[in-house]
Amino acid sequence: QRGVVIIGAGHGGSQIGFSLRQDGYDGPIHLVSDEPDLPYHKPPLSKAYLKDASQDVQILRAEKAYADARIELALGRKVEAIDRQARAIRFADGATLSYDRLVIATGATNRKLTIAGHDLAGLHSIRTRADAAHLREAMQTAGDIVVIGGGFIGLEAAATFAALGKRVTVIELAPFILGRAVSPVVAAHVDAEYRKLGIRVLTATGIERLEDDAGKVKAVRLTDGTTVLADLVLVGIGAVPNDALARDAGLACDNGIVVDEMLATTDPAIFAIGDVANFPHAHAGRRVRLESVQNASDQAKHVARTIMGKLEPYRETPWFWSDQGHMKLQMAGLSFGADRHVRSGALGEPAFSVYHYAGDRLLAVDSVNRPGDHMVARRLIAAGISPSDTDLAEGPDRLKSLIG
Ligand code: FAD
Repeated sequence: QRGVVIIGAGHGGSQIGFSLRQDGYDGPIHLVSDEPDLPYHKPPLSKAYLKDASQDVQILRAEKAYADARIELALGRKVEAIDRQARAIRFADGATLSYDRLVIATGATNRKLTIAGHDLAGLHSIRTRADAAHLREAMQTAGDIVVIGGGFIGLEAAATFAALGKRVTVIELAPFILGRAVSPVVAAHVDAEYRKLGIRVLTATGIERLEDDAGKVKAVRLTDGTTVLADLVLVGIGAVPNDALARDAGLACDNGIVVDEMLATTDPAIFAIGDVANFPHAHAGRRVRLESVQNASDQAKHVARTIMGKLEPYRETPWFWSDQGHMKLQMAGLSFGADRHVRSGALGEPAFSVYHYAGDRLLAVDSVNRPGDHMVARRLIAAGISPSDTDLAEGPDRLKSLIG
């Protein structure tokens, strides 16, 4: 029996084997990762792990749990190719591993800078434990840090750098930080809070090149001709899906591996989940590729059920969190197509939520330091319940009562 082979042991890949066992699967399970570490939590890499040099990564499960569940781990082994004819994956040394079902959970890679100076020493990005360890070491001696890109990961790190007493500048090309991911009200709030912390936030700002001193970055030259001093640069300009294996194997790819509502690729024996999967989203009515722990974990559970013959379309409500200094941002649902945005809580309050509607239909809720709102929002969206403006004005107890 060939069994199930999983490529990538991040949040998605490492979940599948356990879900399969829970659902009664008895065949062989192989979990392959090109990283040498036991699967670990990625979110702390830009949060607690960065802040506290005594912290180690938090593993997702102890090694014994894999053995107990009869999940064969192959760590530090990069998969080089998928042979769909032979139903096998191939490693660099020529060794192969055969499958009945293959799950691709290869995640994403940080997008690289292409401007002059992109290859200087002193440039960092965070994706793996190794990246974060390298950055944590280098930042000890850095005084001036520039974060290129005002996305979640870069901004989380910026808050940490500032808390450690560094002079921090965030440079964002778009007119707002967190441009595509949260409502403008939330982005403006985070921007204002960061300025209060002494972080310089330069929006609508282009970069011409990075300047160096003997091969090491020393400043960032902006398109307006000014420069910002930097002895360390963190690049956080988004991620691209690791879909090359699938592409080379002839599977349809378009901003990630194209899967159907069951998360199957164009080869029914192969599934793709997590950051690498481009899937039709049931509520949003369009294809999306999401980068979140919830998405990777829920899709893993779903594919396990599908492999066990329980065929249902994937319909989980997406949610996401980000810890920005003293602010906990939590997002539920997807706000594509929203035409109305209702804010709860008075302007200027440090804790509030923004409710996104298309007409009367609630699509998504962004919360700042309101975990209670977030939990209720997830349940409202999953149940397809849309509170009226009066319900929102009445507050959390009213919203809770709608769920019943
Ligand atoms: P990953 O967890 O990225 O795992 C993919 C694995 O596959 C990697 O180990 C990779 O090396 C391996 N791989 C790739 N190619 C091959 C190959 N050819 N052969 C073998 N192995 C291969 N999400 C949140 O919800 N909240 C947060 O606060 C948050 N913070 C984050 C902070 C950081 C610094 C990062 C990097 C991510 C954060 N995320 C957060 C996103 C979240 O971690 C990802 O969405 C999640 O890890 C995706 O899971 P995955 O299984 O799809 O991929």
